[in-house]
Amino acid sequence: MTTTPRSQALFLEAQRLMPGGVNSPVRAFAGVEGSPRFIARGDGPYLEDVDGHRYVDLQLSFGPLLLGHAHPAVVTAVSEAVRRGTTFGAPTELEVQLAAKVVATFPAVDMVRFVNSGTEAAMSAIRLARAATGRSAIVKFQGCYHGHADHLLAAAGSGVATLSLPDSPGVTEGSIRDTVVLPYNDPSEIEACFRRRPEEIAAVIVEPVAGNMGVIPPNPGFLEALRSQTSDNGALLIFDEVMTGWRVHPQGAQELYGVVPDLVCLGKVLGGGLPAAAYGGRRDLMEQIAPSGPVYQAGTLSGNPLAMAAGLATLEVLETTEAWADADEWAARAAESISRAAERAGIPVVVQRVGTMLTPFFGESPVTDFQGVLATDRAAFNRFFHTLLDAGVYLPPSPFEAAFTSSAHGPKELAILQEALDQWVKAL
Ligand SMILES: *Cc1c(COP(=O)(O)O)cnc(C)c1O
Repeated sequence: MTTTPRSQALFLEAQRLMPGGVNSPVRAFAGVEGSPRFIARGDGPYLEDVDGHRYVDLQLSFGPLLLGHAHPAVVTAVSEAVRRGTTFGAPTELEVQLAAKVVATFPAVDMVRFVNSGTEAAMSAIRLARAATGRSAIVKFQGCYHGHADHLLAAAGSGVATLSLPDSPGVTEGSIRDTVVLPYNDPSEIEACFRRRPEEIAAVIVEPVAGNMGVIPPNPGFLEALRSQTSDNGALLIFDEVMTGWRVHPQGAQELYGVVPDLVCLGKVLGGGLPAAAYGGRRDLMEQIAPSGPVYQAGTLSGNPLAMAAGLATLEVLETTEAWADADEWAARAAESISRAAERAGIPVVVQRVGTMLTPFFGESPVTDFQGVLATDRAAFNRFFHTLLDAGVYLPPSPFEAAFTSSAHGPKELAILQEALDQWVKAL
């Protein structure tokens, strides 16, 4: 058993000062009955904790670090930007450059607005959809997470699910009265919903590949049904690609599955490890945002030059190298290693992967919705998680989260993963 005295001392102190000792719930390891590692540094594919243990990082800050930690291009870009000043409250050339890249990348995006977090992106896209349609109701899917805005905190996946809070105290009934929650991957439910409430639904928001209940790809026909039902009924389709953008395909799930939504939310990889997110979409919709239109949304640090520089550097590396293909290939090999180890162990595991996101589900059959996620073996995941952590592989500390890969992961890290999996098989 690895000892972590410094992490434990810091966690005690942290719990006195901050709720649960953390600034985002899943970090507290509550989902895996453990004590979190405090991180001192990251380099490439590795995390190093304050006790000096090194881990192959398969959490990657929950998605942003597609190039790994402290990629030289990102470090250089941010270092240069910081010397020119950190924030201006006035437009910069960096915003124009990053906006041009986002518009060129995503089929659905004609215009974009930068914000600071995925939460803001989803909240603002919903506001715009309600304004544009003059309707109130929104449809979301069980187990999909769209940030922590009140009206989106219903059946909201990983963080909430890990703590077993179906909703949250403080979210009023009024604020979720207009939120309809349907099961993921069931086109008949969306058809029935539009039949029941034909003129009430402003938008359907979906993770086009679910990542916040573990990785669940859309069944063939599911996204197409959302597209046709929303179009036929005067509602908007919002793809929340905060996680999937650049992760499932260099041009997102909209390109991978060939379904073009009306609005798109982005984040995570977009900021290259700094706080940046965005929403974008059809020009006629985006032009309704202030100051070109009446729908208000603003931010003191929106389009922050450090975050724009980190995002730009990241996207430039992705465009000019094989970085995406490398991360994808590594994810495929990791998935195969986990599957083979589980076979040897005689433990039923289904590894679900789309591009650079993957989840080992501890059960017999593929998982297609949140009910399926709840039916998996959480105790088995806990043993797997802790054995791998002790052997130097850091997975997200919850059976409901996606694991991520980066272009910095190579053969050496695959060997460390293999060794950790061997230990898991032996210990069973
Ligand atoms: C992470 C995530 C969010 C929230 O983004 P934050 O930056 O954490 O606010 C929203 N939607 C999806 C799909 C996400 O994965």
